[in-house]
Amino acid sequence: MGSLLIDCPHCGASNSTFKFEDPARHIRKSMDGKSNSAELIAHCSHCHRGVMFHLKHNGNGPFAQPKDLAGDILPNHWSVLKQFPESPSTEAPPHTPDKVASALSDALRSRVARIWQGAGMLARKAIEMALAEKKGLNEIPNLKKAIQELRKSGEVPAYVADWGEHVTALGNDAAHRPEFNEKEAKEAIEFAEELIKSLFTRPQQIALVRKQYEEKSSEETGPSN
Ligand SMILES: [Zn+2]
Repeated sequence: MGSLLIDCPHCGASNSTFKFEDPARHIRKSMDGKSNSAELIAHCSHCHRGVMFHLKHNGNGPFAQPKDLAGDILPNHWSVLKQFPESPSTEAPPHTPDKVASALSDALRSRVARIWQGAGMLARKAIEMALAEKKGLNEIPNLKKAIQELRKSGEVPAYVADWGEHVTALGNDAAHRPEFNEKEAKEAIEFAEELIKSLFTRPQQIALVRKQYEEKSSEETGPSN
């Protein structure tokens, strides 16, 4: 039986095997008889909930039905044109340092799985690691204070710093902080994403644009005499 691997939009399992339900009924040939597409329902091997895929046979090798192919049917024979529901992204923003990205991705996966306490704690960890990385420290004893310091140096925009003052996850009274509920966990993740973008993603993107602009203008000016 054919299957494919995706991150489950229901339970958040990463690279979960989705097995097709009765594929033979859903395969169809297009009008020109050359390309083939299929609309199939497949079920997550972790939570057993269904996802609808619109697949296109990409013409490599003989046309084969998903049920005839063993293991992961992509990308050799089929491409996914559409998927419902979509798998939410669990990737950290571009240019996020590896350790920070790993904590944030874990938080995003916990959010998909609706594990709010884990999601909130991991988002807080990603914030802590991002600030430690930026300040070149091993530990950040006070997250709000560190954010305000970075605001003064212009490395955190004012709106992010103002927002940080009201984010429950940034409180320092760790022993007495209430458990993360859904609202607090989502808030912590949204703030972590915005902070990480302002610390790492935007500065790198702007540096790249500036570099391209400088290279272009030096080409236009030509070598100076
Ligand atoms: Zn699942």
